[in-house]
Amino acid sequence: MEIVVASGKGGVGKSTITGSLISLLSKDYRIASIDADAEAPNLHLIFNVREWEKVEEFSAAKSAKINDNCINCGLCDNACIYKAIYEKDGRRWIKEYLCEGCAACKMVCPVDAIDIFDTISGWLKIGKTKYGPLVSAELDVGKPNSGKLVTEEKKIAREWVKNGEAEHIIIDAAAGIGCQVISSLSGANLALLIAEPTPSSLSDLKRIYSLANHFGIESKLIINKDGINPDFRGIEDFAKENDLEIIARIPYDSSVPKSLSSMMPLVEFSPDSPASKEIKNIAKIVVGWL
Ligand code: SF4
Ligand code: SF4
Repeated sequence: MEIVVASGKGGVGKSTITGSLISLLSKDYRIASIDADAEAPNLHLIFNVREWEKVEEFSAAKSAKINDNCINCGLCDNACIYKAIYEKDGRRWIKEYLCEGCAACKMVCPVDAIDIFDTISGWLKIGKTKYGPLVSAELDVGKPNSGKLVTEEKKIAREWVKNGEAEHIIIDAAAGIGCQVISSLSGANLALLIAEPTPSSLSDLKRIYSLANHFGIESKLIINKDGINPDFRGIEDFAKENDLEIIARIPYDSSVPKSLSSMMPLVEFSPDSPASKEIKNIAKIVVGWL
């Protein structure tokens, strides 16, 4: 079973819920965890991973560099739709963080003054936790290919399932509906969608639900911070209109930030807190799907 915890919107408690679910499920199952938010990974913080067992460079991007053949003709300026080329001190230079490595500049250059080279997009990180193996990723600043990085993470976790190190995979997806989230959903069995009772969360819930549907992945809904906005019924109405089952309502709980700063899953930091009790109920539901 491969379950993706996604929300569309950031800050709704996705990693808090994922960390606690993994903590609970790992008591009876071998769980492989994926932190699929390569731009802002944080699951390792909840699991208190201080040292990685393995860190691998991930190279899927290309970049351009201007060499000494340049005659400063300026033909490459218009070829670069990313506006990565600029002139300074009588010659052309490339802003590496804007360059997508498309090689359009190289094609128009009359004197072969542009070299295209492989560049590091980020890093894959593997850690052993008391909850089972964790694969995380970190995208380098300004680099593309976050989706490919997540795909690599999934290959590693699926290998753990193949060799018996894990039985199930739980994925903590990034916010939004971009490449990373698409890669997270790809081939998954179920999407656990997290929303909070606010208009902005509703807007993002609609997008992530539509994305999961597009890929034919069944979704279940968890409302987090339930009760913070009692007059707002948008999430419930959307769930009803779309036949989206609400499996849990987690109340607002002041233990959550304390558990994060203690680098512990909430259900361990404060097992009897209102949110922990509800997450334990969710874990029982999830066990029914495994
Ligand atoms: S490789 Fe593409 S993005 Fe990079 S400088 Fe050349 S044209 Fe611009
Ligand atoms: S097209 Fe080639 S020669 Fe002309 S400015 Fe660009 S890099 Fe230099």
